Amino acid sequence: MNATILVIEDEPKIVKLARDYLEKSGYHVLTANDGSVGLMMARQEQPDLVVLDLNLPGLDGLDVCRELRRKSDVPIIMLTARIEETDRLIGLELGADDYITKPFSPRELVARVRALLRRVQGGLRQPGVIRIHDLEIDLDGHQVNRAGEAIQLSRMEFTLLTTLAQNPGQTFSRGQLLNKLHGIANAGYDRSIDAHIKSCAAS
Ligand code: CA
Repeated sequence: MNATILVIEDEPKIVKLARDYLEKSGYHVLTANDGSVGLMMARQEQPDLVVLDLNLPGLDGLDVCRELRRKSDVPIIMLTARIEETDRLIGLELGADDYITKPFSPRELVARVRALLRRVQGGLRQPGVIRIHDLEIDLDGHQVNRAGEAIQLSRMEFTLLTTLAQNPGQTFSRGQLLNKLHGIANAGYDRSIDAHIKSCAAS
């Protein structure tokens, strides 16, 4: 999934430039041209990052930032034409993560967006996710998707699948797999592994 960026800015030229460059860089872009609408969209759409102009009609950028921070830790980059240090400081105290002073190059915006997302999300790499062909195993969320569709697995099946997926090419005996599942090898349930593997393979 591409990250979604919400751009809250009232100057059409800047919105267009930001949208063009961010989309070209693979981001999904939403825009709002006033503070109140932007705040509403940020709450409804849950973007991965907000680019927020300081000087906005309706609710201004600092108000939007303050309101957003009440309930959200979404990364925020503020755009500001005011270069005074006080504004920067006020913004930072309210919880903005980064600043860009106008005029700025759209390439710089993209670079800052990328850097901030990387900082916040660990580069979107999701270390807790294993991908094998069209199979996606979310280790933290205990979810498995195949070609984008969720597969329902029991906890045992999930453990079994992740054990095999985390050790590609390695052969496990039934006893070893049972160890993973139950913490103890239990010869009496030896064959239950077969059923779980079949269930995984059939999914
Ligand atoms: Ca403005």
